[in-house]
Amino acid sequence: MRKTCLLWLLFALLIIPLTAAELKDNALYLEVLLAEGKSLNLKSRDSNPALLTITEVNSPIERQVQGNTFSISFMNRDKLPFWGFLNCIEPIGLHSMDDENVIRQTIVWEDGKLKLKNERMIFEPISFGNKEEALLYASETGIPAQQIRAIPMINATVKISTGADDYYFETPLRIKSAKDIQVGGLNLGFSGEFILKAMGEKLVFTQFLSLEDYVGGVIQNEIGSSAPMEALKTQAVAARTHAIKLLLYNRHTADGYDLCNNTHCQVYKGQYLSNTNIHTAVSETAGEVLTLDGVLADATYHSSCGGKTDSSTNIWRSTPLDHLMGVTCISDCDSLDLSTESGTKAWLNITLSDPEASSWEKATLNWSRQISRSKLAKNLGLNSISNIEILKRGHSGRIILMKITGNKTVTLNSEYKIRQAFGNLPSSFFYITSFGSTISLKGKGSGHGVGMCQVGVLRLARTGWKYPQILEKYYPGTMISRDWIE
Ligand SMILES: [Zn+2]
Ligand SMILES: [Zn+2]
Repeated sequence: MRKTCLLWLLFALLIIPLTAAELKDNALYLEVLLAEGKSLNLKSRDSNPALLTITEVNSPIERQVQGNTFSISFMNRDKLPFWGFLNCIEPIGLHSMDDENVIRQTIVWEDGKLKLKNERMIFEPISFGNKEEALLYASETGIPAQQIRAIPMINATVKISTGADDYYFETPLRIKSAKDIQVGGLNLGFSGEFILKAMGEKLVFTQFLSLEDYVGGVIQNEIGSSAPMEALKTQAVAARTHAIKLLLYNRHTADGYDLCNNTHCQVYKGQYLSNTNIHTAVSETAGEVLTLDGVLADATYHSSCGGKTDSSTNIWRSTPLDHLMGVTCISDCDSLDLSTESGTKAWLNITLSDPEASSWEKATLNWSRQISRSKLAKNLGLNSISNIEILKRGHSGRIILMKITGNKTVTLNSEYKIRQAFGNLPSSFFYITSFGSTISLKGKGSGHGVGMCQVGVLRLARTGWKYPQILEKYYPGTMISRDWIE
């Protein structure tokens, strides 16, 4: 008995997983970042104390800690080196277990299924207590700086202080709270299971939850909990598909979690705002994602196209995708070629109205903006502006290439750069109505214009469309798949 226990502990010391995504009971569980920093604060969302159940992953230690606030900080920041040089990545099973091993888990899509793939990260024998020292060593020895990686620190001691008492634990920790807690500066509530780990010089606090709960926490923010049921279901399938697409990029693997909680991935605000409509929309579409010939579709979406959606190739110059070529959203503009100046002007001069639309939807149907010529010049690093030339529009009418001439010439080659230059415009689907000391613009739409249009989804849902029809309209050729977890 004693021997088994020792061996198990030894094994745990050698194998350090970066993330904890799991496939269990035909469901995907993932880690979503809630907060990171050299120290972290949690607090109860109301005046009653919260009760945290804290378990050390690498030991049998489990404790209940009660309090209104919990301040978490490192105790032994210099105990272990936590920056190393990545030598290579090997499949599991090739290497002996005599070195400390970090397991990198990546999420892949193979043969129409999602799989978790574990690989071993082999580090050079030398490591450092902080990133600056590692960078200095790298520059002196010619090791490429991108080989420097944070090594997850197991058995880093953290202090959790409730004000009344201090508790000491060794990371990583699993923390459970039945009651909503506030995390960091976020005025939001999170409950359920969390993971606290030490990554590099930072503490990383994530929520460990099912993909379905995650989708629920995303769609309330994306389309609003009062949206019609079919719109919520449409958004649930799109957000679920998009989340898996993001997981397949594995862009946070080295950070120690699967997805972040802001716009870089998708905005996730926890469950506390969600209502029964959201729960229904998520559970009635449970596990549904969009695929195309067995491959996960790219279910990107935006607020409002303004008439037609655009192609991913026009907007991001990415490889053409059959389901992201652009479609007509509002049938009245179907006959107009919005990539021409005459088509754009004809459509933008029509004031759209939809009595059923909410105020944020209406604001995207027709908008006008003004910017002073000097402000635009300043935004572009020019002294003056004498001419603005629209060189190319996408199918949606969004300007994707623009030349601005002043004391020198500036070319803006993406809708995003154009929106930023003119002062954070809702979209680059506009024309210039007057060009004096003030430049006036008239436009429609909000967002990049690729994939699903949320304002269009709401309109179609109100007129009785079902979510599979709506998804087929915005992502032509895709199908809903339920059987995609290996
Ligand atoms: Zn992210
Ligand atoms: Zn639209």
